[in-house]
Amino acid sequence: MSRPDELAANLATVRGRIAAACADAGRPVDDVRLVVVTKFFPASDVRLLADLGVTDVGENRHQEAEAKAAECADLGLTWHFIGGLQSNKAAAVASYADVVESVDRAKLVAGLDRGAAQRSQEIDVLLQVSLDPPGADGRSGAAPEELGDLADAVGGADHLRLRGLMAVAPLGEDPATAFARLAGIRRELVTDHPEATWLSAGMSGDLEAAVHAGATHVRIGSAVLGSRPRFK
Ligand SMILES: *Cc1c(COP(=O)(O)O)cnc(C)c1O
Repeated sequence: MSRPDELAANLATVRGRIAAACADAGRPVDDVRLVVVTKFFPASDVRLLADLGVTDVGENRHQEAEAKAAECADLGLTWHFIGGLQSNKAAAVASYADVVESVDRAKLVAGLDRGAAQRSQEIDVLLQVSLDPPGADGRSGAAPEELGDLADAVGGADHLRLRGLMAVAPLGEDPATAFARLAGIRRELVTDHPEATWLSAGMSGDLEAAVHAGATHVRIGSAVLGSRPRFK
């Protein structure tokens, strides 16, 4: 099968899964935005995806994301940064990302705001919350009890728009249980920050559970692009 045919078939399957999950959950299908995670795959794939109607792409490594966004600047895509962020790279990420989903500490805010100001564009920000047990190894994301202060920090930045939350279901836990917890965390955040309505949750293996728990964005990599190459 040619690469365009393969991507078209995979996309149709994923869009069908999202539609079925929305129907099951009694939600309109346009409630859920598909972000295709293109990390490790070439800009040529991003171009094919844009031809197939994909509007949002996600990347998790700064250098790769920066290069691909530049190569695909003519496509008018919305670029989501979904990876771990170093504070010394925050301004650079804000120079091409339209949505930064992985803000997990207040230290990132000044750099992101500066990068957004230089670009004269407001950037959408999601707070990444950890669903892991406290003290778990390799935990990424803020603890739920840190979100209030973090939301205030983002909300106070001139060029950042607080939009909501992002989370990854922990390994070894039923994603439905983890995402139910996430839905509760979201309800609490929205009480003080009614603008923070986006919920980015769900990957190739667990998008149905995420849609059931209220996800507005799903981040899908391998189900669209195939398994990731080990080396670029
Ligand atoms: C890679 C990645 C995804 C996509 O994962 P798949 O299982 O390939 O769909 C989603 N979210 C984050 C944060 C990622 O790093």
